[in-house]
Amino acid sequence: MNVHFDCPNCGSENVQSLPIIFQSGTSGSNSITKTGKIISVTKGSNMTNLARSVAPPAQKECNWWLTALPAFLAFIFLDSGETWLILLLLFWTGAQFKDNLDKKNYNEKVWPQEYDIWLHSYLCHRCGNIFVRG
Ligand SMILES: [Zn+2]
Repeated sequence: MNVHFDCPNCGSENVQSLPIIFQSGTSGSNSITKTGKIISVTKGSNMTNLARSVAPPAQKECNWWLTALPAFLAFIFLDSGETWLILLLLFWTGAQFKDNLDKKNYNEKVWPQEYDIWLHSYLCHRCGNIFVRG
């Protein structure tokens, strides 16, 4: 069995797995810099451009309160007689609800596959090609 592998584009053996590149180029620590009297705090991760370019696929953030808010407002205006306003708020509720369902669906069905592909992806340091090796 052939254990070494090459870039399918240029044949270079100078390839590296995306998770390794990402981890080695990301620092999770917070930093505090003091310049004279000004103190600036940098939170979260500092990433190299290379690490950022090979970052894993992100999950989509669901905002269920954006669904609840117009529904709540529609409920408040229920006795106002402003039918158009209530319909508009209900339409907004429906649109937000669908948007959140789509995001939830992506996170549960599509994202795990994309993440799995990312876990098995490699970058060629010679030509920049990204390829999957199962
Ligand atoms: Zn290559």
